[in-house]
Amino acid sequence: MQSLKIAAYRAGLNALYWSGASRLFAPMARGSGAILMFHQVRPALRSAFQPNAHLEVTPDFLGKVVREIQAAGIDIVDLDEATRRLAEPRPARRFVVLTFDDGYRNNYTEAYPVLKALGVPFTIYVATGFVDRTDVPWWDAIVALIAETPRFRIRIGSREFDLPTETLREKRDACRLVASELCQVGEDEQRQAIDRAAREYGLDTRLMVDREMLDWDEVRTLASDPLVTIGAHTVGHYAIAKLDSARARREMAESRDRIEAMTGMRPRHFAYPYGSPSTAAEREFYLAADLGFTTAVTTRRGVVDADSRLTALPRISINGHFQSWRYVDTLLSGVPLSLERRLRSWLRRPPSALVPEASAST
Ligand SMILES: [Zn+2]
Repeated sequence: MQSLKIAAYRAGLNALYWSGASRLFAPMARGSGAILMFHQVRPALRSAFQPNAHLEVTPDFLGKVVREIQAAGIDIVDLDEATRRLAEPRPARRFVVLTFDDGYRNNYTEAYPVLKALGVPFTIYVATGFVDRTDVPWWDAIVALIAETPRFRIRIGSREFDLPTETLREKRDACRLVASELCQVGEDEQRQAIDRAAREYGLDTRLMVDREMLDWDEVRTLASDPLVTIGAHTVGHYAIAKLDSARARREMAESRDRIEAMTGMRPRHFAYPYGSPSTAAEREFYLAADLGFTTAVTTRRGVVDADSRLTALPRISINGHFQSWRYVDTLLSGVPLSLERRLRSWLRRPPSALVPEASAST
């Protein structure tokens, strides 16, 4: 099903690109600029079981994206410059901001050399609990657990799951089900479920975080480079909309304070973990502004312009299943996103409005 969706979306992007529609309508849809979202950057893995492959691109592809953006005459700027340009009703030049979420070590070992060589600025949003080794990216822990076992048992909240995970298909199905269940329960229950399963299967999550995520020396090295902005991304990477107000505020403020204490630089920019409407909404947008963040980004899809709310900025996710400049170019035109929005609002209308004959007869 997932592969069908990917194929359909790819076909849609190809149709917009090859028909010339994305170029034709771009001037109406592309806004002043775009904020691109990446996660991991590393050479392609050989494993067939990679449920999070959409969250990673290769260093080669990252370099290609940057060179193509520059060749298209679009500036790659940091978030402070983007904020300045967004204050202008019609900036003279289009811009793109590069952002990387979570604080993966390969942002330092793989992405940084590429971007440094090309001389372009970028932002890494760091969840400080990962750097402090007190929290674990649970989505990676689940993959590591399911990859190694022919049967996977996990208790999530009050429910027990006992799933076959022998074949690739079973592993994929189990992973999807478990991830979805983990997103339904409370944030603390979610972490308890992961910790229990890790203990039961002997997965050393501390070792995993040590290996995969940035440490403070690396964050400091990155922060000292004027090309790099370190943004806050909470402490524990919780869906903050699910936390009470005091805890949500603490998650946001403490990550900023910790980064400042460890690097000497106070983050002005923030990314909401997950960033979807159910995980970051009005209360969180208000909190980000109240805490004094200049910008905060979501994962809602879209380009940015003078009307964009600075603490609810949309982004364009660079999906590992779509590693071709053609797709990035098409997304940057803003046309697929604008079409999606129109389609969604059309589908939300009452049924009579969808059928002109029906509304005419009443
Ligand atoms: Zn994140």
